[in-house]
Amino acid sequence: MYVLGIETSCDETSASVVKDGRRVLSNSICSSLSFHKKYGGVIPEIASRMQLETIAQVAQVALKDSALPLKKINLIAVTNSPGLPGSLLVGIAFAKSLSLAAGVPLVAVDHVLAHIYANFLDNSQVKLPFVALVVSGGHTSLFYVKDFSRIETLGETQDDACGEAFDKVAKILGLGYPGGPIIEKLAKSGDCKKFKFRCSGTQNPLDFSFSGIKTAVLYAVKGRQLSLKEKKDIAASFQESAVGALIDKSILACKKKKAVSLVVGGGVAANNRLRVRFIEEAGGAGIKCYFPPKPLCMDNAAMVAGLGYQLFKKGLRSDLTLTLE
Ligand code: AMP
Ligand code: MG
Repeated sequence: MYVLGIETSCDETSASVVKDGRRVLSNSICSSLSFHKKYGGVIPEIASRMQLETIAQVAQVALKDSALPLKKINLIAVTNSPGLPGSLLVGIAFAKSLSLAAGVPLVAVDHVLAHIYANFLDNSQVKLPFVALVVSGGHTSLFYVKDFSRIETLGETQDDACGEAFDKVAKILGLGYPGGPIIEKLAKSGDCKKFKFRCSGTQNPLDFSFSGIKTAVLYAVKGRQLSLKEKKDIAASFQESAVGALIDKSILACKKKKAVSLVVGGGVAANNRLRVRFIEEAGGAGIKCYFPPKPLCMDNAAMVAGLGYQLFKKGLRSDLTLTLE
């Protein structure tokens, strides 16, 4: 079965063709990131206008790269939640039009759960059930996944998402956007013990809080002219503490659910230090960690097509009244 996925929840416009929920035949992505950089964050109207301009072409490229004509597509899967409303509307309206014109069924997909599904694409070894951590620019959540229609939320951020904290710390240090890859690069030659930054506690131990650590960085920097060495030490100290909180809570969730598999997804899962520490520390607790290939950590329509296939097989369908969740 061939599924065309459509993803427009934030600054990417993406379309992808996936075979039987697993094999990625194409994954076309057009990002408006460079237009947002000078503002230090995503400007929703710039994102949705670019999505409106590019979506038809992005879908055409996905079909062309898959070497399949539209008439071979059996299902259209589209992100309808969560995300920027104007951006989601572009993808939903496009997917509905295509579904109507081509007479192909439609299924709506949750973007955060699709980040988990990225671990199932191509040569995945992951087996259900498992604990999943989604760690991105807009979300930081822990789930227990029995199967793709039975997902329990175990915890979520009470304030900033982890990726958002990376972006804000980079901004405080006068670095560029998005902050995650820049912080990671600086942290490599920084001393992670130089500054004592800690993530705040939460009432539910499986929830997250990243706004306190960001403020701690702000106070450490306030009114000071920082050397490059100090910036590196701050980046390393922040990253170590943020990653530590993600690991501790993920291991706790696995213990509570007696899970031996931990699946990680979302933009921050591209971070090498995070990957190394998760594999070592969760491994030490008898838990096997899985990550998608780095390009599939970022927003993409392949994960949407893949999860759409699984939901369709479970009997889920959307009709032409589909809108934002
Ligand atoms: P997403 O929300 O899934 O599109 O991912 C984007 C978020 O991931 C942004 O907040 C980025 O700063 C963050 N990010 C991307 N690469 C990295 C990295 N290598 N380390 C930490 N955060 C990252
Ligand atoms: Mg995302």
